[in-house]
This record gives sequence, C-alpha cells and structure tokens, in this order.
Amino acid sequence: MRLPRSLNTLLAVTLTAAVHLGAWAQAAPTDSAPLAATIPIADVHMHLYRGLTPEELRAAMDRNNVRWGGGVGPVGPGYDPQDFARLLGPRYFPAGAQAEQYVMHESGGSNELQNTESPRFKALLETLAGQFERREITGIGELVLNNHRSSYAPSFRRKVRIDADAFQAFYGMADKYQGFVQIHMDDDSDSIRELESVAQRYPKVPFILSHCLTRAPARTARALLERHPNLYCETSYRSTVRNGAPALQPYMIHDASSAQSAWIELIEAMPERFMVGSDIYTKDVSYDAVIGAIRTGLLAKLSEPTLRKVAHENAVRVFRLPAVSP
Ligand SMILES: [Zn+2]
Repeated sequence: MRLPRSLNTLLAVTLTAAVHLGAWAQAAPTDSAPLAATIPIADVHMHLYRGLTPEELRAAMDRNNVRWGGGVGPVGPGYDPQDFARLLGPRYFPAGAQAEQYVMHESGGSNELQNTESPRFKALLETLAGQFERREITGIGELVLNNHRSSYAPSFRRKVRIDADAFQAFYGMADKYQGFVQIHMDDDSDSIRELESVAQRYPKVPFILSHCLTRAPARTARALLERHPNLYCETSYRSTVRNGAPALQPYMIHDASSAQSAWIELIEAMPERFMVGSDIYTKDVSYDAVIGAIRTGLLAKLSEPTLRKVAHENAVRVFRLPAVSP
C-alpha cells in the first residue's frame, strides 16, 4: 500500500525525530512537577571539598530544600567533618574512610589500599571504630574501588578487588555498627561478581552504588538489584547538568528537563532502591543547578509515590536519618 505523500513525510519526520532523541522521555509536564519542585531532598552523595565552608554548605542546602546531606566523606585530607556537623547537626550524615583512602592511594597506589599490614590501614580501622562509637559517622565511603574507565585523572585511577580482605574489614565494621557502605565502581563483570559475593556475605549492610555503577545500562542495574535486596543505586553524576562532557552523553540518566525512559521504567519498577545525590567536589559547579535538574529532569518524571521515595524516603530508611524540622 502506498501512503499519501504528506503522510509519508510525517512518518519520516516522526521516525527521524524518534531515532535522534533516542530513548529520552520528553519534557511533557507531569502531575508530579509541583511536588518535585518543592519536596525535601536527601543528598546522599554530598562531599566536603576545598574552599567550601560549613556556612556556605548550609545556605546551599537551605536554598534548595535539601534537608539532609552526606553519605560520603571529604574528597581528601585537610577537612574536619565535625566543623560541618556542629553547624548542620543531624542534617549531616558523613561517611568514613574516604579522605584516608585518598592519602593511601596517593602514597602507595592500589597496593597500599589493599595492604592489611600497612600502618595506615591499621590506623584507619581504629579511626573508623572510634568514629562509629562516637556517632561521628554512620557508614563508610565513598570507597573508590574501580574507576579505571570512569576517572579522567590517570593518577586517581585504580581497579582493586571489591572483596579484598582490607575492604571486607570495612564491610564487617559497617555490619557491626549497623552502618552503610557506599562504593564507586565501574560495571566490569569481575567487579560485579565480587560485589555480589560481598552483598551476600553481609546481607544486613546496605551497599549504595555511587552513580549507579557509573556507566552501567539500566538492564545491568536491574539484574543486580533484583538479585540482592541490600543493593541500592544513587544517581549522582549521571545528569548532563552535573557532567556535560559530550562523550559521556550515552551514560546519562537525565538532564534538566527529561530522563531516559529505560531508567524511569526501572525506578518505577523498583522504587525503594533509588536515591539522589549531587557529587560536587569543586567550587565551579553550581549546587543550585545540579539539585534543580534533579527536581525538573528526574523527580518530575516519576509518579508521586515513587518521587517521594527517591527524593528522601528511601534515604531516611537506608541511612537511618533522623526527623529534622524544615
Ligand atoms: Zn563522589
């Protein structure tokens, strides 16, 4: 059958547009938009970094109605999370080991990270135990264990076993103190196998996967989350507003106005397992823009019950966050 010429043209234009747009769900206003614009957020990937003051961080959180923030640590040495805790109180939930691991990797690379005989490692275990006892931390991370594809800086790259004894010491400690572990890892099949073995070995520990495995497709995340009830994803750094590099576009989950439909389907299918974060570690990135895009590009694309969970309800449950007044 021959279609009328005008219909043919329309069909061609529509098909071209569909191919060009890939699987981006478009920016149609949804019923969720007003709630997405105002709901309190828990930022589960909120670092401390050079030049950031406690007052600035609190102002940024207040401006954006980010009620809680943390889940990771300072990006390197030279910061005292307690300065931030004093100002933010129970709104701040920092994790341990990140700054120390930065120093260990700088000085001795992957070997130092995994060396359970290293004086630095032994000191870190003692530090963590003290921090858990004093309730200065409620978890461990961001443990950067495999970023050989997702790091631009060669000196920061490493790939170590997720189930190495040194890291199992951390997971065991999280288990003991009912804490969480947040891990940054690329989705290599060997790393995933190692992750699955520790998820099984420590079933009471919530493992939060930073950036949802950095570049993993939704189907990889789905398979893992289906197999292990103690695995969670947070979506930081997978927003074009946080990370505009053209080469990384295929790995993005959302921009400021739309989201990938495969991810929206996955989040709706497993609404208890996703959280959001900012992952800012330099002063040249706008917290307002990054949180704004989470609201308009991601949360507004979700159903209301799901967006409530992703915005903060999951984080309150997984990170055991206290109720705080707005
Ligand atoms: Zn990070």
